[in-house]
Amino acid sequence: MSKGRIAIIGAGPGGMAAALAAIRVGFEVALFERAAEVRAAGNILNLWPPPQKVLKLIGVDTDDLGAPCKLFFRSAKGRTRAEVKLTPEVEREFGGGFIGLLRWGLYQRMMAALPPGTIRLDHNLVSHTDLGHAVRLDFANGEAFEADVVIGADGINSSVRKSLWGDAPIRHQHLHLVGGYLFLDRAPDGVGVLSHNRTTQVSYTPIRHEGKWGYEWWVLEACDPSAPPPADLIAFCRDRAAGFSQTVRDLIAATPLEHMQRWEIRDRPPLPQWSKGRVTLVGDAAHPTSPYAAYGAGMSIEDGYFLARELAAVDIADTAAVSGALQRYEDRRKPHTSRVSQEAYQTGRMFHHLPAPLRPLRDFVFDHTSFLQKMVGDEMPKHILSQLAEIEDAEPFIPPHLKEKASAA
Ligand SMILES: Cc1cc2nc3c(=O)[nH]c(=O)nc-3n(C[C@H](O)[C@H](O)[C@H](O)COP(=O)(O)OP(=O)(O)OC[C@H]3O[C@@H](n4cnc5c(N)ncnc54)[C@H](O)[C@@H]3O)c2cc1C
Repeated sequence: MSKGRIAIIGAGPGGMAAALAAIRVGFEVALFERAAEVRAAGNILNLWPPPQKVLKLIGVDTDDLGAPCKLFFRSAKGRTRAEVKLTPEVEREFGGGFIGLLRWGLYQRMMAALPPGTIRLDHNLVSHTDLGHAVRLDFANGEAFEADVVIGADGINSSVRKSLWGDAPIRHQHLHLVGGYLFLDRAPDGVGVLSHNRTTQVSYTPIRHEGKWGYEWWVLEACDPSAPPPADLIAFCRDRAAGFSQTVRDLIAATPLEHMQRWEIRDRPPLPQWSKGRVTLVGDAAHPTSPYAAYGAGMSIEDGYFLARELAAVDIADTAAVSGALQRYEDRRKPHTSRVSQEAYQTGRMFHHLPAPLRPLRDFVFDHTSFLQKMVGDEMPKHILSQLAEIEDAEPFIPPHLKEKASAA
């Protein structure tokens, strides 16, 4: 018997993970997406071990998902400044730890795990009304829906967040990123390199997508949001990569234009409160995060898992118990997500917005002291290990429709 009805707004990684996690613990779920199809918002992606662990637990097939790598921070000239050292146990369990993949590959795996009919396309939420005992949703197509709990997984411009907490300006980081990928007919060497010169980051990691090996790379630097974007992305990337390793220059040179994409980087300062009544937020709706952490999608996936666990422990008909569960969920998630998103913001500033006279000094410190090792090489594994410890070691869930398929085979 269903434990209650949950409506989720937005079929990105946060919404799909929240749906799978809620189905796993016995809720009936409707996942509303405004677009006519589920589309990956972007090409390249990396995932840390905690979201990989959650994906497996909530029923997503993680076999052969992404290419694992060891991650190094280096200067443009190749001097290693930091190594992200996960423990040997984590490396063993997650085939190396940090994986590179294409965003669409993740979406496909998540959609395959969702029971047919869960995602309802062409449903653009226009308003929600908390009725006390339930929440009413109204969509632009004229349909209405009632649910016991509503989860806003509708991204950085979340309309759920806006109606709960009002409009707040987006933080433009004055950074832009061009990301690209290519496939190779050989396995990569299992090394990912994040490298910087005085102004620019030019980085790469291996990827695996639908059984194919390859690499993704990105070029990131300061930008003026009022200026037009580079007219020729290929020339822009090649120009910025001059002076970096031959490896990354070769990757960029071999990437077709249709595999490149540009974004301007935005986030928001941490939101003090996410939930109200029977409504809460997950993912970018709650804590949009700069790609500097490579963890925005990962944290969105983790949110759904922790939220479902809290909701499973209460009587969904009891309004006070539901708001208590939502509060416990956000109280657990806020310290981790705000720390990661603020650190990502500050790291972007440190590498790209320091006044020019200070940059040689900064790079001297990075090249000749253990500062960067302590700041990212040692700190990131601490976040990863503490998150992994919070996620249960249970048998992976098999979604009902996949169970039927497995027993029919
Ligand atoms: C260049 C770049 C690189 C990145 N790299 C990484 C990385 O390597 N690793 C990582 O973990 N993260 C990365 N991120 C961050 C990651 O992309 C986001 O954190 C992640 O997509 C957030 O997922 P989400 O489901 O919360 O929101 P979204 O992915 O934004 O999904 C929101 C969904 O809600 C739908 N929606 C919006 N409004 C409505 C409405 N009114 N009604 C119905 N549906 C609605 C949208 O159509 C969309 O499908 C990167 C981000 C960028 C920009």
